[in-house]
Amino acid sequence: MPEFEPGLDYAISLDNSDELAPYRERFHVPKDDHGHDLIYFCGNSLGLQPKITGSYVEQELRDWANLGVEGHVSAKNPWLNYHEFLTENMARLVGAKPLEVIVMNTLTANLHFMMVSFYQPKGDRYKILIEHDAFPSDKYAVESQLRHHGYDDKEGLITWKPRRGEELLNYEDLEKLLKEHGHEIALIMIGGVNYYTGQFFDLKRITQLGHTHGCMVGFDCAHGAGNVKLDLHESGADFAVWCTYKYLNSGPGSLGGCFVHERWANRPDLNRFTGWWSHNKKTRFNMRDEFDVLPGAEGWQLSNPPILSMAAIRASLEVFNEAGFEPLLKKSMKLTAYLEFLINQLGDHVVRIITPEDTAQRGCQLSIQVRKADKTIYDELTRTGVICDWREPDVIRCAPVPLYNSFQDVYNMVKHLKSILNA
Ligand SMILES: *Cc1c(COP(=O)(O)O)cnc(C)c1O
Repeated sequence: MPEFEPGLDYAISLDNSDELAPYRERFHVPKDDHGHDLIYFCGNSLGLQPKITGSYVEQELRDWANLGVEGHVSAKNPWLNYHEFLTENMARLVGAKPLEVIVMNTLTANLHFMMVSFYQPKGDRYKILIEHDAFPSDKYAVESQLRHHGYDDKEGLITWKPRRGEELLNYEDLEKLLKEHGHEIALIMIGGVNYYTGQFFDLKRITQLGHTHGCMVGFDCAHGAGNVKLDLHESGADFAVWCTYKYLNSGPGSLGGCFVHERWANRPDLNRFTGWWSHNKKTRFNMRDEFDVLPGAEGWQLSNPPILSMAAIRASLEVFNEAGFEPLLKKSMKLTAYLEFLINQLGDHVVRIITPEDTAQRGCQLSIQVRKADKTIYDELTRTGVICDWREPDVIRCAPVPLYNSFQDVYNMVKHLKSILNA
């Protein structure tokens, strides 16, 4: 646990000795009416725009203007296999082999496509286990899969809940659930980092538990990708999905990422939904009758992808690559620990952090519960130029992002919160 000091001078000294501090300049930071940078702690919702993104997108617009359809093969970055420009960087970022990763579709759509393959209910084994307070879209997706297969969406859903009076989930409770219900569970689908509490789960432990009981295991890593070290391959998970517009800074509604473990790479027998982009690249345009599926995660693609969106992802991954994910993680831990230190100084009677203290069980986000709070506190914060996120009834989610947030951002945010709370 690093020791910090209160005071602005100290925050400034932390920024001065931060080797990643210059990266802030590489992003467009939203400004208030007076042209001052806002304190942007919403990278867990929509990451900021890298300044190089414009030129990456413009390149493709230019090639489209100049080349039309020929751009598929003669653009500077030919569109035909454009997704391949992303694969290596994306795979490195999530700890996977290139064969296991594909950028395609959007997040919830990918979750459904993965469940087509990895939720295969049979006999007594038809239930799906999710975590308490799963992201609503994930819950809706899972429930609709149950209905799609003819099951009752209440009866078929098992929830891993926190203990009474607690927010975080406990692995012993999961073990117990699996001991009792493991034989009925076809799929375990967990948010890798819970969006509400910020709890980062032990993916490997959950996967091993699930596999021991004969369940498929998948993760939604929307709050993990670009934020924590995921080690997807090593986790052994059957699949994972994530979006690229949160910590991966690729723009609103941008494409999602998808991981399919190597063990499923050469299983054309596995049920899946397909399209021409899942077909062998060499014969894709022969428009033949016989389908020949691509090996690996590429074999789950359906459509030719939106190049403009991929260009933005490509730009963002370049920035990550240049900064290096290890140094970013190191800064992230320090930045978040500093936020934790300052928040805790406000006193237990005023605020309580519900995110785990253990740095191995969290990323950059802290979920701060404000005692006797209502939304006016959040509105006040917004008025002072702090952009964070409010979850009813009383939680502020705050995500200092190592690529573009500073220690002074953290200092100033807590200063504003303190004065609003009269703490
Ligand atoms: C952000 C987020 C989503 C949003 O889904 P989209 O399909 O991208 O709209 C879904 N699930 C989780 C866990 C998320 O964090």
